[in-house]
Amino acid sequence: METQQAYAELGLDPSSSNAQIKASWRRLVAAWHPDRNAAADAGRRMQRINKAYQHIRQLRDGGEEGAADAEREAEQPAAASQPQATEKMYLRQVRLTLEEAILGCTRTLSGHFSHSCEACVGKGQRVLAKACSSCRGSGAVRKPALFGWLWSEEACGVCGGDGRHRSPCEPCAGSGERSQAYRRQVRFPAGVRTGHVLSVPPSPQGDTEMGLELQVEIEPHALFTLDDEGVLRCEMPVNGYAWMAGRWVDVPTPGGLQQMRLSRDALVYRLRGQGFPGALRGPRGDYLVKVVPVFASQPDAQQEALLDQLIESTNQAAASDHKQPLGQWQRNMKRWSSTKPTRS
Ligand SMILES: [Zn+2]
Ligand SMILES: [Zn+2]
Repeated sequence: METQQAYAELGLDPSSSNAQIKASWRRLVAAWHPDRNAAADAGRRMQRINKAYQHIRQLRDGGEEGAADAEREAEQPAAASQPQATEKMYLRQVRLTLEEAILGCTRTLSGHFSHSCEACVGKGQRVLAKACSSCRGSGAVRKPALFGWLWSEEACGVCGGDGRHRSPCEPCAGSGERSQAYRRQVRFPAGVRTGHVLSVPPSPQGDTEMGLELQVEIEPHALFTLDDEGVLRCEMPVNGYAWMAGRWVDVPTPGGLQQMRLSRDALVYRLRGQGFPGALRGPRGDYLVKVVPVFASQPDAQQEALLDQLIESTNQAAASDHKQPLGQWQRNMKRWSSTKPTRS
C-alpha cells in the first residue's frame, strides 16, 4: 500500500499526529466492523483500514516515540511489563469466543512479523560509492532509434540514472522485507470486547524485536448475545404450559447449564453476577434471560380434552371459593341474570 493512499484511507495527511492517526483508525474500525456494519464491503473496507494503519505505524515507529508511549499508557497492556522506547508494534486480529471474553483466557499466538528492512529502508538494494558498471557512472545509456540511423540517450535502467553502483541488500536478500517468526503467550483479561486493542511489549530476552498490538474480535455465539451496553442476554423459547405451571427449566449460562424456576408473572429473568464484566477485569454484571412461552398452535384431540378438564376443574374450584375473583364474578352474573326481565 502506498503511503499517500494509507493516509487517505484514514482520512488524514502526513502532518497528522500519532494520536490523531490512532483516534481516526479506532473510529473507522468501530464504524466499519462487519459485526456492526451491514454493508456488503464492510469486511473488505475493514481490511484496508487496518492495512493502512499498520503501514503508517511501521513508517513512524522509531519516530515520535513520546507520543506513541503516551498512547500506550492510556491502554490496558495485556502483559505487565512497560513497553520499550524503541519498540515496534505489529497489528493482528484475535478472535475470542464470548465465554473466553467473559472469563478471560490465555492464548498462544504464533505467526510472522514482516516489516520493511532497516538495512536498505525497504529498497532491497544498497547504493555504493563506486560507479555503476552498466553505464560507467554516466547514468545514461545510448539506444538505437529509427532503424539505427539515430541514437537516443535514456536513463540507465540498472542504476536508475544516478550512475552509482548497487548491490542487493544482504539482510533481506534483496526483497526489502524481513520476516521473523514469533510465538507468544498472551493473557486476555475478562471483559475484553470487540474493537479493544491490547498491547504486548516485545519480550526482553526473546529474539523478536517487535511487540504485538492485538485487535480483539468476539465471535458470534449460538445462544448468547452481548448488546451495545455490554449486557449479556439470551432469548429462550419455553413450553408455555411449563411457564404457566411455574416449572423448573434448564438455562444456559457462560459457566454451564443452570436450573431456573419459571413464573407466569415474568418473561425476563435476571441472573445476578453471571453476565459480562462491566469493565476490564471488573466484576461480572447481570445476565438477562428472556423466555418466550410457546403454546401448541393447534392442540390435538388429547390436548383439547386436557384443556377442557383444566377449564372445568378451575370453574368448580372458583364456585366453591367466595373470595376468588372468578367465583365472585360468576355469582354476580347469576344474580344479575335472574333479576333481569326475560323477553317473551
Ligand atoms: Zn534490505
Ligand atoms: Zn547505470
